[in-house]
Amino acid sequence: MNVIELIKKKRDRQILNRDEIFFLINDYTKGKIPDYQFSAFLMAAYLNGMNSEETTSITEAMLYSGKIIDLSTIEGVKVDKHSTGGVGDKTSLILAPIVSAAGVKVPMISGRGLGHSGGTLDKLESINGFRTDLNLARYKSVIKKTGAVMIGQTKSIAPADKLIYALRDVTSTVESIPLITGSIMSKKLAEGIDGLVLDIKTGSGAFMREFKDAKKLADSLIRTAKSFDKNVIGIITDMNQPLGNYIGNWLEVVESVKALQGKDIHDLMTVTHMLSGAMIYLGKKAESIEEGIEISKEMILSGKAFDKFLEIVKMQSGDTAILKDLSKYPKSKYSEKIVADKTAYLESVNNYEIGMAALELGAGRLTKEDVIDPKAGIIFHPKIGDRIKKGDVIANLFTDKKNKIESIKDRITQSLVFSNKQTSRPKLIKKIIS
Ligand code: URA
Repeated sequence: MNVIELIKKKRDRQILNRDEIFFLINDYTKGKIPDYQFSAFLMAAYLNGMNSEETTSITEAMLYSGKIIDLSTIEGVKVDKHSTGGVGDKTSLILAPIVSAAGVKVPMISGRGLGHSGGTLDKLESINGFRTDLNLARYKSVIKKTGAVMIGQTKSIAPADKLIYALRDVTSTVESIPLITGSIMSKKLAEGIDGLVLDIKTGSGAFMREFKDAKKLADSLIRTAKSFDKNVIGIITDMNQPLGNYIGNWLEVVESVKALQGKDIHDLMTVTHMLSGAMIYLGKKAESIEEGIEISKEMILSGKAFDKFLEIVKMQSGDTAILKDLSKYPKSKYSEKIVADKTAYLESVNNYEIGMAALELGAGRLTKEDVIDPKAGIIFHPKIGDRIKKGDVIANLFTDKKNKIESIKDRITQSLVFSNKQTSRPKLIKKIIS
């Protein structure tokens, strides 16, 4: 087989067969296909799509690029959650400890920041010492001891996704249903889980802006999970504004700690409890999602979830002292405010722009080689539907890049639409598919 012919085939809207897709994925993973050719293939797949057979083949090829972990020696039901990506989406950090404190095993394999959206691994690594690169034996021992583990792909677990994800991040080939399906499901199927909850985001900060596209992505993910005999629940949730108020890696750890300590951040905790409730239900510790939500709330109120978070961080070599005194973390060189210049209601936010603004402040990558600044990011205060008074602080920006501040302030200001009339709040949970 010849890579140029296969790029041409996809470019010309033809269907690739299973062997051709396995050839592309295997040879790229082995380093035999260079980034420039694989980027061309990704762009052709992005532009021309892939049918459901091609989507299944790419998922299988990515999954079998590594091992499928056998967790059968570990007692209990193993359930994970994955989000399709958003701005300020820190639910994994909060729900992994909640769900494991409730007695369900959570063997989580996550990704890094992708495009304008943040990634769980980058957030966790902002905690000094936290290791997301555990080997298989350590992965198993952490899950056995604490009930949860949070790592990234390795050379033996979904290595194809590790490489392709990083390339998609910098080649504008993220927003593709088959590529997202292959990426998410290869990681999740490699984990050795029994059940999976999918958080499919829709809105201006999601990869699927329109509800109908989010529904198509949900269907593709659920179809693939079911073809591997996994119990799955898909929940379509709102991403028209940041989830919670903090965007950026360490900032999101801070907000997660506050949530785990009982602060009721309404939108963040509504979505988190819905997802953890569904996981607790799939993990057979509740008779329904509603009962799972009650158990989830109880895990926060009792302090068990925060204790579990500290236990996970410690087991993965992270500094727990800083989590008990968040103010000790190093500060950005510069902090700036955006202040409202009139009184009005917030009508809409271009949430993609907020994600890109955080990325440009240092919270994400523009090239594969970029190094993330864990301190950088934004605290975005208002919610759609809020009345903002002249002089209120709309956002605080944190960065070490002085030259970026003015343009980012403009970028954020231009992403907001205000109205003199009362505006409505978006519905947070849009659909549950089980
Ligand atoms: N999350 C993933 O793991 N992969 C994607 O492609 C998008 C979101």
